[in-house]
Amino acid sequence: MIRRSSLLLVAVITTTIACAQDKPLDMKMDFEDYDPPSTLVVSEHHITKAKFPFVDIHNHQFGMPTMNLANLVGEMDKLNMAVLTNLSGRGRGSTEHLENSLKNVKDNYPKRFLVFTNVDFSGIDDADWTKRTVKQLEDDVKKGASGLKIYKSLGMFNTDSKGNRIHIDDPRIDPVWAKCGELGIPVLIHSADPPQFWQPIDNQNERWLELKTHPGRRHDNDPVSWETIIAEQHNIFKKHPKTNFINAHMGWYASDLKKLGQLMDMYPNMYTEIGAIIAELGRQPRAAKAFITKYQDRVLFGKDSWVPAEYETYFRVLESEDEYFPYHKRYHAFWRMYGLGLSDDLLKKVYYKNAIRLIPSIDKTLFPD
Ligand SMILES: [Zn+2]
Repeated sequence: MIRRSSLLLVAVITTTIACAQDKPLDMKMDFEDYDPPSTLVVSEHHITKAKFPFVDIHNHQFGMPTMNLANLVGEMDKLNMAVLTNLSGRGRGSTEHLENSLKNVKDNYPKRFLVFTNVDFSGIDDADWTKRTVKQLEDDVKKGASGLKIYKSLGMFNTDSKGNRIHIDDPRIDPVWAKCGELGIPVLIHSADPPQFWQPIDNQNERWLELKTHPGRRHDNDPVSWETIIAEQHNIFKKHPKTNFINAHMGWYASDLKKLGQLMDMYPNMYTEIGAIIAELGRQPRAAKAFITKYQDRVLFGKDSWVPAEYETYFRVLESEDEYFPYHKRYHAFWRMYGLGLSDDLLKKVYYKNAIRLIPSIDKTLFPD
């Protein structure tokens, strides 16, 4: 009798210990906090200077009229950036700003900068808006502007005098696109934002952390859909086959290169640049390399925000064969990336040859053959 109860007691104690060990510890943690360093040991290449001189086709320098360009050129040299394109030639929208920017460049570093002009859509209802805008474009190009930059505000925020959204494919703008083709200048156009910014902000949204930390980027309550804006953009590519368009940020299709390839096939006048989407390429190195190989004459190097330290990520993704390395801003891309290891031939095209073909005024002596 005694022996039986002892056995029973032992059994109860054993079961209790087993349960305590299986019970998960209460150790909840925020997603933001969980960012352990990788234990993977592989070779790393921190490439702070591009292998070849390059053209950054997507940059903004709002202070260009009065800036000491020597400082900027010093920073560019460290990166091997031969030419920087300031897409904000008109600053907040003035001819004087453009003229002074061009003068500063011409007086100091005529070979190292390109300046794009911009268009003011606010008077689009004026009877002479189209004529006036086309004339301004012609004048700006005569003064030295190398292209036209269209901000994402077109299609999202620009409204006519009645407060209606101006569509990207508004027929009143058609003569502007056509004139760019005639003048032989490219249009670098940024339309919409990443599609995730329109999606519900929940655990199914891949850019949840970015929307949490940057609520100003939300478009989930916008009246116009991402698809509508993008369709309007594609419509101008179709309507103006003689005009070269550089679709900024890979047209927000960098996470769907099959679809982007279809668009490249459909619109031979559409080029693209890789600003702000390098993390998309870096998480699919084989598909990205295949895409750049197939469309090697139409992909350009762009970065957008001027943060010199961030260029390293771009060089590393394009040039190295490194594995499983992080993007520089976790809120933007929490995943790790892999280098594409592009050949010298491909790198030269992406870094400068494609830009020179689109903008023949770029000084070729800055680059190897
Ligand atoms: Zn930009």
